[in-house]
Order: sequence, then structure tokens, then C-alpha cells
Amino acid sequence: MILLKIMNNKIKQIRTVKGMDDIVPEDNNYWEFIEASFKEILMSAGFQRIVTPIVEDALLFERPIGEKTDIIEKEMYYLERKNDDDDKKERLALRPENTASVVRSYLEHGMHVKTQPVKVFYFGPMFRHDKPQKGRFRQFFHIGAEAIGDDDPMIDAEIISISYRLLKKLKIDNFSIQINSIGTSKTRESFIKKLKEYYHPYLSDMCDECKSRIKTNPLRLLDCKQQSCQRYKEGTPQIIDYLDTKDKSHFMEVLEYLDELEIPYELNTHLVRGLDYYTRTVFEIWPQTDKIKDPSRFAVGGGGRYDGLAELIGGKSVPGIGFAFGVERIIEILKMTDKKIKHSKSPDIFIVQLGGLAKRKSLKAAEILREEGFSVVFAANKDSVKSQLKLADRLKVPIALIIGQKEVLDGTLILRDMNGGMQETVPINMVVDEVRKRLPKDQ
Ligand code: AMP
Repeated sequence: MILLKIMNNKIKQIRTVKGMDDIVPEDNNYWEFIEASFKEILMSAGFQRIVTPIVEDALLFERPIGEKTDIIEKEMYYLERKNDDDDKKERLALRPENTASVVRSYLEHGMHVKTQPVKVFYFGPMFRHDKPQKGRFRQFFHIGAEAIGDDDPMIDAEIISISYRLLKKLKIDNFSIQINSIGTSKTRESFIKKLKEYYHPYLSDMCDECKSRIKTNPLRLLDCKQQSCQRYKEGTPQIIDYLDTKDKSHFMEVLEYLDELEIPYELNTHLVRGLDYYTRTVFEIWPQTDKIKDPSRFAVGGGGRYDGLAELIGGKSVPGIGFAFGVERIIEILKMTDKKIKHSKSPDIFIVQLGGLAKRKSLKAAEILREEGFSVVFAANKDSVKSQLKLADRLKVPIALIIGQKEVLDGTLILRDMNGGMQETVPINMVVDEVRKRLPKDQ
């Protein structure tokens, strides 16, 4: 426990902020596995990495995401700088998501001159002052992709197909792709009118949030999770019936592509995704395991088209579509379903040193071997050969190189095969070749 004495001799415990966790080394194999799998699939589809700042102008998020959404109304972190005076105060925010930042970057760097769509992916922390619980944090990682500059339905299908392949690659087999089209803000108008009319008679029985949503963000009535509101969901008007011909045929084409790709999906006319910037295709990926009671609250990923977003942040009109997966949720599901992830590779070599002179030479030896491409570790704080070999064994290192006073003077090393226990003395200039010969092939 870390206890800090603060003013007036009070004691404060220093620990991670509520809802924000450390990623500990024991989980490293999951993080590596997920990032590497995403990278492989996205790069094979022509996506390149983009890194945008964690801190942005708050305006970038407020209007496009929607002033009346939970993210903007309740969850966004605003930053205050200690020395800003009122005149110079910048309104900065920690990003709650990354799509708006990527579109800002597209506009700021004039990416419209590149081949369209510009395809990018990202990996990084997002911040939302949500109520922390299982699978819901205040800092969480998104791994996401965006294809900007093309509104062809084929791109929608490509984005969904990549999401599908990613989960398969991560060995998450049981999930369902929920899909819907929410048209454009114009075509949604008549639907929203009908939706309000439908809910109006039931309003007095519904939750307080829905009572205000009907005025501020009526689409969100459809994804309220409260029991009191769920019972009215069945009979709601279907957004699909209100789409105009262009939106409808765009959606039909997306579905035809998915059929062609044999990607299973479920039409979910209640799926709206909540943020203002979405248009046309929206989708979410829900896990299917009996360990999760309400999969709609434990989506592993989601995304959609945002053809109006660039305009909402002050640029010219540019279509786009993307997705984001929650890394912590993917890990939770992998753990829940007992999926064995290959552990991070053990180091290749453990250098065991005996005596002051050998210890001094061992760091140099480690550096030389690392330059040759081997991963090399040692234990500076252990003196006995026995304890160092015990550690090498625990780390599952296949080869130990033992250096003592005699070996330094002779210009040799003792090479120990940690699996068989065989040892032999090797001249120092032969070590690289000898190690290479003996390393297991999958190392
Ligand atoms: P969203 O765009 O909000 O649907 O976020 C995309 C994905 O990020 C979700 O499907 C979740 O897997 C994950 N996610 C969203 N919010 C959180 C959170 N507060 N904590 C952990 N993961 C989250």
C-alpha cells in the first residue's frame, strides 16, 4: 500500500484512479496476441496505422457525437490547466472515442488527395466517466479501423467482414453480428416522429431517462435496457420502413455482399448505436456464451457509417465507415471461455555470471548477443550459479551461458542446454553459431 502524507499531516492512499487499471505483465500475452492479430488482418487489407493525440479540442467531440448523448452529457473528461487564465482557457478533452479524431486528421492533412478510401487503424486508450463494472472501465483500449472517402456498400461489407475475420482469428467463435441501417438525419425525421407517437402513451410507466430521451435523443429509446421500457420495444415502428429508396438499396447491397461472403448476421431493427454522427449501416458484435446474461451490454465491438461526420466538424462532406473493438472485453471473453493463448516467447539465453570480473563482462556479452538478434536476460542480484540456473529454468530459457573467472581469462563460455542439462565449453568467437545451432526451431 502506498501512503502519502499530505497537508495537515493527513494520510492519503495513492492507487489507480477508479475505473482505470494497470495492464500487468501477466496479461501481456493477451495484449500481444490481440494487437498482432488485428495488425496482420488489417495490414493484409491495406490499412495503415494512424496515431492521433489523446487530448483534443472538446468541440471535436461535442457536436458530432451529440450534445444529448451520454458520452457528452455525462462521460467526457475535460482537462483544466493549472495556469490558464479565463481569457486563454482552452477547452480540451480526453478522447472518448477515436473516429472523430481520425476524420479530423484526414481533413487536416488533406488526405482527400490520396487514393480513396483512406484506410487506417489505431490502438489506444479512450476515456469515459462510465460506471465501472465488469467489462466497463473509465480508461479502456480501442482497436479500430476506419475507411474514409468512399460510400460504396462494398466498403461496408469489407469492414464487417474484417471484423468477422478478426474475431475468428482471435478464436472467439460464438458471436453474432447485429446489423441495421438508420438512414440519414433527413430520412430519419419521419421515423422519429412515428417513434415519439408510439412511445407517448407509455411514457408515464417508463424510466426517467427515457422520459427525457423522448425530447432530446428519441432514437435512444430503442436501446434502453430498463425492464420498464423493454416491454414496449416489440411493437415499435421499424426504421427500415422509413428509409428512402437510396438508403434502402445501399443497405440491401451491403447485405447481398455479406451473403456472398457467407458472413452470418442478424437484422436488428432496434440497433441505433446512440451517437449522432452515424448514418446508414450500423453494426455491433455481441458475444454468445451462457456466461454473459445480456450480450447487448457486453458488445465486443461496434461500428458504422458516418457520412456526415466530416461536415459536422467543419470540413467538406466525406463519407466514411469504421469499427472499434474493446480490448479489455475481448480479453475478458478469452479468459471466460478458457481460450489458451500462446505465452509470450521465452528469452533465448540466460547469462549466468560467477564473480566480479565475470559479472562485468556478462553485460557486454548480453549486448553483443542481443545485437545478433537473440533475446538475452540475466540476474544481476543473484550470486550463486544454482540460484541463477533455477531462475533460468523458471523462465523456460532453453540455453544458459555460464561465465566465471576462468572463462573470462580463457576467452570461453560454458554453454548449457537447459532441457537436457548437457554442458560444453565454447570459444567466445563461436558462441553465436553454437547458440543458433542449438536453439529450438520454433524459438
Ligand atoms: P462503442 O463505440 O462505444 O460501442 O465502443 C466500441 C467497443 O468498445 C464496445 O463494443 C466495447 O467493447 C468497448 N467499450 C465501450 N465502452 C467501454 C467501457 N467503458 N469499458 C470497456 N470497454 C468499452
